[in-house]
Amino acid sequence: MTNYEQLLPSLPPCFTKVEKSIRSHFTSVALTSLPRAPAAHRVPPAIFIIMLKRKLRLPILATPLRCKCSQIIDIYGDHYLSCNQHSKTTMHNRFRDAVAVVFSHLATNASLIGSYADVTCEPTGLLPSLPLQRPADICVHLSPGMLSSWSHLLVDVTSIPFYDSRHDPNPSPVERLHECAENKKFRGTHHNKNEVLAAILQHRYVMLPCTFDSGGLLGPLFSAFLFGQNNDHHSILRISQPRPKRNLVNPQVEALADRTLSMLPKPGLFIMANSSWQESHPTTPFTDHFPLNLPSQWATAVIGNNLILAIGRHLEDALSFSLKEHHSTVCKAVACQPRIPRPRRPFPPLYPGMSV
Ligand SMILES: [Zn+2]
Repeated sequence: MTNYEQLLPSLPPCFTKVEKSIRSHFTSVALTSLPRAPAAHRVPPAIFIIMLKRKLRLPILATPLRCKCSQIIDIYGDHYLSCNQHSKTTMHNRFRDAVAVVFSHLATNASLIGSYADVTCEPTGLLPSLPLQRPADICVHLSPGMLSSWSHLLVDVTSIPFYDSRHDPNPSPVERLHECAENKKFRGTHHNKNEVLAAILQHRYVMLPCTFDSGGLLGPLFSAFLFGQNNDHHSILRISQPRPKRNLVNPQVEALADRTLSMLPKPGLFIMANSSWQESHPTTPFTDHFPLNLPSQWATAVIGNNLILAIGRHLEDALSFSLKEHHSTVCKAVACQPRIPRPRRPFPPLYPGMSV
């Protein structure tokens, strides 16, 4: 690691600015050490190749192409994650569902919630004054007193590109991109965002932005919730001191951000779930598939596998479209469909050894 760190300053900024992201622990685990016995862990070859190249920062295109938005598609495919002509809804929803599954199992183990039914996706009716509004992607109904005095944890998922080539020719470091996106989530994106914000603040709700970037790295706030505030894990983002103020546009938004910072658990969800499992099942692994013996290892696999599938599928579809449009034969080996269809279910099956 020391040699690697010594080498980093000599590398071009276009690499060093995204280096933390492509070193994402979750995608590394998913690409290299998942048990392949569950069919859901077998990634289609075309997606695996694309994501392996992304991990190694190798080109997925032989030459830059012109996108239908009129911008240039770079050889690494970063443009596909920022282009508004390529919908990111499917990618977002797959990762949202993965986070919901992880919360339903780990939060139950950690006694933060009473049962799986306390985790809901895209719920309405949370704000009585705005009953049809969906203020979060995932709502976690907390058990009383488990997370300070907060009653509900509102998790909002968003994907962020390495940079937006239209507005940001000189990309910011990846941690700055995450923190600005997290602040934007506090500010809200609804047309009536001030009303939504005021309604959230009236209740004992706390928000947790969950950002994931083009390399599969998670934002500092969500990482702190999973790993704990003082975790020294080598490849997660930490909360900056002080945090940037961009997008915290008024005192209400700042108040919501302060709630989140004061709520983050010290040991982290992974450690809480592991301790609880080991105490209640000292000799039983969490799953039947080595090496997923602890709740945190299973959760890392689910998050990593679904990041690979979500980002990889998005890139594969976008690449196929671009190559078809340009009638290119050079890169078809990268974008081709696998000859043998693989299961595309987002989640591994429930493991027999898992507590229900
Ligand atoms: Zn484009």
